Amino acid sequence: MPLVETEAVVLRTYRLGETDKIASLLTRDLGRCRTAASGAQRTKSRFGSSLEPLSYIRVWIFERENRDLQRLNSAEVIESFFGIQSDYRIQVATQYLAEATEGFLPEREVNERVFRLLLAVLRSLKTSGEITRPLVYFNYWLLRLGGFLPELDRCGACRRPLAGAGAFYGPGSEALLCQDCRHPAAQIEISAGTLGIADGLRGIRLDEWLGRQKAPAGAKQLRRFFEEVIQTQLERKLVTRELLADEV
Ligand SMILES: [Zn+2]
Repeated sequence: MPLVETEAVVLRTYRLGETDKIASLLTRDLGRCRTAASGAQRTKSRFGSSLEPLSYIRVWIFERENRDLQRLNSAEVIESFFGIQSDYRIQVATQYLAEATEGFLPEREVNERVFRLLLAVLRSLKTSGEITRPLVYFNYWLLRLGGFLPELDRCGACRRPLAGAGAFYGPGSEALLCQDCRHPAAQIEISAGTLGIADGLRGIRLDEWLGRQKAPAGAKQLRRFFEEVIQTQLERKLVTRELLADEV
């Protein structure tokens, strides 16, 4: 079994028996993987606080080819995002990031860009205290990098350009619909101005966007639309999405 050193973000952990934990990690070099951390429930565990949710850590993993569960040998904190989670809104936002990442990325598929995206979004939550734009940015790029970003300037059914008009979507939508193609379930309207926010995201870093101006009107609506598309692609409900809707 080779011992692999890599960096990781802790997506979540859960108990395994009396003393151990399973840590679901997004690693830089092995992709997303589940690891068993022996003794991690003990008070004086050698893992210390490194397995807190969303911690950015350095890990040493015994890689077991063709096995679902890898063995975590040791871990140390590079950067913690635990303190910011005392703010409930940020806690829910970080849980959303973890849930969407875990659902979206196949196991053991290395994706450096999503790794860097997740880290950038966590840092922006820490420094800006803002929720909406970091999540808009995360959703946009998660969809785009995964090849699931719908066209935002034309109808997904008839393919005609929206040409400055608003569009519609609803539960289970993968794309936007024009006024003519909208069906009864597509009740949520999204304005041309809101869709225009997405145009600017391709060529800007998140910290630049956050530093530039206040969150534009419609950013939250855009966030909700992207979340719907992500949920449709996952084919299941995101638990944290409802918490976000209530609180953020
Ligand atoms: Zn149409």
